[in-house]
Amino acid sequence: MRIERLSALEILDSRGFPALEVTVQANGLTARASVPSGKSTGKNEALERRDGDPKRFGGKGVLGAASAVVGEIAPKLVGKVLPSQAVLDQMMIELDGTPNKSRLGANAILGVSMAAARLRAMTEGAPLYQSLGGADATMLPVPCFNVLNGGAHADNPLDFQEFMVVPAGLPSFKDALRAGAEIYHALARLLESKHLSVSVGDEGGFAPNISHPTEALDLLVAAMGKAGYRPGEDAFIALDPAANGFYQDGKYVFAGQSLDAEAMTAMYGEWLGRYPILSLEDGLAEDDVAGWKHLTVVLGADLQLVGDDIFVSDPARVKEAIATGVANAVLLKPNQIGSISEITETARVARAGGYRCQMSHRSGETQDDFIADLVVALGAGQIKSGAPARGERVAKYNQLLRIETELGTRAKYAGRQAFRHA
Ligand code: PGA
Ligand code: ZN
Repeated sequence: MRIERLSALEILDSRGFPALEVTVQANGLTARASVPSGKSTGKNEALERRDGDPKRFGGKGVLGAASAVVGEIAPKLVGKVLPSQAVLDQMMIELDGTPNKSRLGANAILGVSMAAARLRAMTEGAPLYQSLGGADATMLPVPCFNVLNGGAHADNPLDFQEFMVVPAGLPSFKDALRAGAEIYHALARLLESKHLSVSVGDEGGFAPNISHPTEALDLLVAAMGKAGYRPGEDAFIALDPAANGFYQDGKYVFAGQSLDAEAMTAMYGEWLGRYPILSLEDGLAEDDVAGWKHLTVVLGADLQLVGDDIFVSDPARVKEAIATGVANAVLLKPNQIGSISEITETARVARAGGYRCQMSHRSGETQDDFIADLVVALGAGQIKSGAPARGERVAKYNQLLRIETELGTRAKYAGRQAFRHA
């Protein structure tokens, strides 16, 4: 079976910005993939190639990335047998020739990498999660629903970016999804009763006019109760403050406070006694490595500490973190590193070092549901894909429902086990 055609199209993402879609065809089969995009990005992410032409989409066009697919990658693949994922990704990394995929663009490389993985699964007649993960890929992840948005994803005064509901104590993914939706709607009614806005942020969570993180935590716990779920038994909380966003001159400045890393750590520790928090992502800034070490020493035994901006899904950075005691879990965002082989390697390195993994969408998404299959393939046990609302967010959760249904009695729900010390 030889590749007949590889093409690329500039489409729109959930925010109305350009995104790259790649299509690959062979033997009458067509596989397609599109690449998401972040807003609160780590500074060491692989480079998302944008045109910078101010006359088109404010400079955010991806025609250059599209022409890299068609003009540079396609000539290496068309007419050839579809290579293995590792061979394909390595070929593109070498063709790019830069450390951060800046020549072809990480969006160009990842789009081809994903589309090729889909085509391979189609030719095997296997579901994508099985093609990527083998017959043992039967673990459904715990969903982390981002129901309150702040930071870079909303224009409310809340500096912390994400407040997530985590139904880890329920028996199945399907039950967890229903809980997430019911709690989301209970939260809407609660906000309305307090005359707070139910307008939403980039990831579909509400963005009310509140400023202190504990106001958001109180709302989450109350919404769980209103929806009939027991906080700390059925449902828990995960936070992504995305602390880069409010780190100024060595201090964390939010809600009228200015705290150093030790005071932040003490604050998080105090919250652990008051709220059912299972996971804290980017609680400190990517440049505050000393702060991260302190946070890990003090809270790492009791709390999942996820590195996002500080690791940028890079296996080398994760290796170093394991050696030096930074965090105890890794966020997996395929477009931060730029290929399916590399994100798979990141997950392998993390788990070999005893670190947990959480799969993640980006704030700018499409209907592409690749990460749903990928999280099952990697057996990562956790996923965040925004609120249980809005098409581009629920596309991933709905695909996980399909996978759970297809697996039938073979499906396992990761549950609380997926979180360290939970
Ligand atoms: P981003 O944010 O997709 O806008 O970068 C998500 C996150 O910080 O986890
Ligand atoms: Zn994050």
